[in-house]
Amino acid sequence: MNMIANHPPTAELQALDAAHHLHPFTHGGELKQKGARVITRAKGVTLTDSDGNDYLDGMAGLWCVNIGYGRDELAEAASRQMRELPYYNTFFQTTHVPAIALANKLAELAPRDLNHVFFAGSGSEANDTNIRMVRTYWAEKGKPEKNVIISRKNAYHGSSMGSGSLGGMSFMHEQGGLPIPDICHIDQPHWWKEGGDMSPEEFGLERARQLEQKIEELGEDRVAAFIAEPVQGAGGVVIAPSTYWPEIQRICDKYEILLIADEVICGFGRTGSWFGSETLNIRPHIMTIAKGLSSGYAPIGGSIVCDEVAEVINNCEFAHGYTYSGHPMACAVALENLRILEEEGIVDRVASHSAAYLADKWKGLADHPLVGEATTIGMMGSIVLTPDASSRAAFAGDEGDAGLITREHCFQNGLIMRHVGDRMIISPPLIITDAEMDTLVERAWKALDLAHKQLKDEGKLKAA
Ligand SMILES: *Cc1c(COP(=O)(O)O)cnc(C)c1O
Repeated sequence: MNMIANHPPTAELQALDAAHHLHPFTHGGELKQKGARVITRAKGVTLTDSDGNDYLDGMAGLWCVNIGYGRDELAEAASRQMRELPYYNTFFQTTHVPAIALANKLAELAPRDLNHVFFAGSGSEANDTNIRMVRTYWAEKGKPEKNVIISRKNAYHGSSMGSGSLGGMSFMHEQGGLPIPDICHIDQPHWWKEGGDMSPEEFGLERARQLEQKIEELGEDRVAAFIAEPVQGAGGVVIAPSTYWPEIQRICDKYEILLIADEVICGFGRTGSWFGSETLNIRPHIMTIAKGLSSGYAPIGGSIVCDEVAEVINNCEFAHGYTYSGHPMACAVALENLRILEEEGIVDRVASHSAAYLADKWKGLADHPLVGEATTIGMMGSIVLTPDASSRAAFAGDEGDAGLITREHCFQNGLIMRHVGDRMIISPPLIITDAEMDTLVERAWKALDLAHKQLKDEGKLKAA
C-alpha cells in the first residue's frame, strides 16, 4: 500500500528546495540538476521518501538515530517539557530541572571521574568549547603558552571555525581560512591506505609515535591537548590497528597534556559500550558528545569533563556559553533517549549479540570481487572498494568514483550506505534486527554487483 502523506508533488518540492534552501556539504549546481531526495517519514530503521519509496537507513541519519525512528516517548517528553518550561538559560547562576537531571545522568554513565557536563547545541559547538576550555585550563594553571592542540589528518570534529580547524579534512581547510592558529595535525592510523609494507601492528605504533615526536618537537610546555575520535567516523570508519591506542595512552600518560576523546559518533552504544573510550581502553580527560545523546531527536551536544579540569575551570568565570546550552526540551528528549537505551538493554544487546551478528554477516562482503576488506566495530562498519585486493590498490580514475557509483546503486535498491572516497560505510540504528541486518547485507551485495558491472563496462576497473 502506498501511503503518501499530504504534500505537494516531489518535483514541486524539489524546485522550491532548490530556489531557497542552501544545503550543507552539497554541490548546489548538481543538486539543482538532480533535485534533492525528499524524505517524508521514518519508522524503526526505515525511511520513506516523497514518492513512497522505502530505504533501509544504514547510516542512522547522520550516525545519530541510535534508538531508531518513530519513538513516541521522545515526542511526549518534548511536548511535556515545552508545555512546562520551553526555554530558560543556564547562564548567570540559573538552572532548571532537565539540565540538572541530564548532567547527573551523564556523570553516572560516563567512566571514572568524568563527572561534569558543559552543554552545547551540537558536536561542533562542543568541540569549540573544548578548544577554549583546555586553553583556559592551562592559562589558569599559569601556562598560557601551553595552547597548541594536536589532532589528526582526516579527522572530523565538526564544521565551525574551531571544530573544523581541529578536524583534519583538507577539502574543508581550503574554504574560509581554516585552520585557526595553534592547531596541528599528525597522520592518521589508516593502515589500508597509508600502511605501505608495514604490518598493521608496526604501522599502528609508527602513527601513535608521531604524537610523541610532535610533542617533543613543539615542546611539552606548548601542547595543551590531543584530540581524536576513538574510531574515525566521517573519515571512513577507520579502525586503528590494535597497537595504536595503547601507545597513544602511554604517551598521554607520560606527558602533561589533556586527552580529548571525540565521542560524538562512538558514544551511546555505537561500539558496544556506552562510550568508545571504554571499548578501546582510553582514559580521556574530556569527552565530546552529541548525535546519539538524543538519538538525533533534538539538537544537543556537550563536553563531559573530569574532576581536575572542572575544578580549575570553576576557579574562574569561563566566559563562554550558548543561548541553547542545556536547552530544556533537548535535555528532556536526551534523558528519555538514555532511559530507553538503558532500560531496553539496547547498549547491552549490541555488546552481547548485534555487534557479533553484524560482524559475521558484514565480513562476507569481503568475498565480493570489488571489495578489499570488510571490517566492523560494534555497529559501525566499512568496506574498501578496490580493483585489486592483494595489492590494496586504488582505482586509476578519480578517487571516490567507484564509491559514488556504488552509493547510487544502494539508493536504487533501497539501502542508504554512505561513501567516503572509495570506502562504503554503515552505522545503522542500534535497534536493527537480525533480519534487517540480513537485508542490509543482501542489498549491499546487490549494489556491489551492479557497481562492479558498471565499472567494468565503463573501463574503470583498473588499478592506479
Ligand atoms: C558529527 C560530528 C561532529 C560534529 O557534530 P555536529 O553536531 O554536526 O556539529 C563532531 N565530531 C564527530 C566525531 C562527528 O562525527
